[in-house]
Amino acid sequence: MTLARTQSIALVGLHGELVDVEVDISDGLPGYSLLGLPDAALMESKERVRSALHNSGAQWPNKRVTVSLSPAWLHKSGSGFDLPIAVALLIAQGVVTKVNHDFQVIMGELSLDGSIKPIRGVLPALIAAQELGIESAIIPAENLAETRGLTRLKPIPFAHLSQVLQYLEEGVIPDVELKQPVLHVPEIKDLSEVVGQRSARFALEIAAIGGHHLLFLGPPGTGKTMLAERIPTIMPPLSIDETLEVGAIHSVAGSLGTRGALSTTPPFVAPHHTTTTVAMIGGGSHIVRPGAVSLAHAGVLFIDEAPECAHGVLDSLRQPLESGTVTISRAVGTVTYPAKFLLVLAANPCPCGKFNGRGRSCTCSSLQIRNYLKKLSGPLLDRIDIRAFVEAPTRVEMASEVHGESSAIVRERVLAARNIASERFQGLGWALNSEIPSSQLRGPFKAERAGMSFLHAELDAERLSARGFHKVLRVAWSLADLHRNPRPTLNDVESAYLLREGTFL
Ligand SMILES: [Zn+2]
Repeated sequence: MTLARTQSIALVGLHGELVDVEVDISDGLPGYSLLGLPDAALMESKERVRSALHNSGAQWPNKRVTVSLSPAWLHKSGSGFDLPIAVALLIAQGVVTKVNHDFQVIMGELSLDGSIKPIRGVLPALIAAQELGIESAIIPAENLAETRGLTRLKPIPFAHLSQVLQYLEEGVIPDVELKQPVLHVPEIKDLSEVVGQRSARFALEIAAIGGHHLLFLGPPGTGKTMLAERIPTIMPPLSIDETLEVGAIHSVAGSLGTRGALSTTPPFVAPHHTTTTVAMIGGGSHIVRPGAVSLAHAGVLFIDEAPECAHGVLDSLRQPLESGTVTISRAVGTVTYPAKFLLVLAANPCPCGKFNGRGRSCTCSSLQIRNYLKKLSGPLLDRIDIRAFVEAPTRVEMASEVHGESSAIVRERVLAARNIASERFQGLGWALNSEIPSSQLRGPFKAERAGMSFLHAELDAERLSARGFHKVLRVAWSLADLHRNPRPTLNDVESAYLLREGTFL
């Protein structure tokens, strides 16, 4: 046979397309051409495949080799096509004669010595293959751990090209010694480690119940990061679908080493304030990689010292905050990644960080203080439902060593409140209190009469904007669900009002 065909998967974002890999060996001057919009890494596959074949006891044909990847219009990137090209070459040369057709797609990068190296994006590729009805796949052994959540597709792991050869000839599945990826186990964080901070802890709980975005204000070193890091521990665990989706995003980003593919803990992503727009929303020239907003999908995006962010970085959050997705256009195509997260911003109260309303040691002018938070643009602040002041624990609190409730206890309450909300919203198209449309807040989702009168009085006195009115009501619903009130009471509305102003104590 001089013509052979294998199949692989090309990824565009999280979307996988089946790719035919065809190899033709013909007489003529020895040469190699690769067709079908390959990127630079893929162009280099020739040298890797050639060395890998030599070192696996096979030969590189001394003839004219044409490799075609189709559909031709689709950009193909990365090194994952090395293995399907090598296998097609072996079939075309007649090295493999009895082809075992038990597999349907092949992916993997070849090392010069013939060993098979892990690649990024195996999980989303196999999810796509599974959707296409494909039942098994040849993958790098080191990628096996991330595929455990698949139910209808059987991944067959290989560590070396010679094992693949043996498998194709004899159907022998090698006993591959699985190198488990070294998982960086994050230290277990728990809310019980937070001393004091009664009002900030309460703000966290309400944010987790309703999915309300949050702003922490407070001097440096008071524990804003410590509090934010613990939000995932009080959120409901990810569903099976969310786990796969989050795993797929992290597979493409290559960050499964720090996060197990089957982890059901909502992700926590904290880009530094010097981060770039590309790192925040995603991008790249050859492969469009997911950014922080997508890595935080179904979890928490925390930005410390948010007013220090470069111009444009915070504004780039607007699209994902509105739509729950982020669309990135590059020369290689347009990619949409999911990006629905709980946003937590932290800011010092003023440039020097010491302002606490009592003017103790702050050296900033009142103008500086007013302008500082203006750096958080209006449209972004509009999406923040809760502000919480975080102050250093008092000496009494530090000395008492009385710790607050554990994450498990708080999470129970959050789960109970979320269940009430999701039952109420069944069939309406949203699940969280932060998502109640404004029109509904003046209709079926009003507060009790006394609560509405309170808000109307604040509106009339111009202490509350129309937008603020809706935000207070949404938070009031989360308080009502926590307190098991069928509708927000006056008390819930007043508490929500204080949470929005950041004066709740
Ligand atoms: Zn200051």
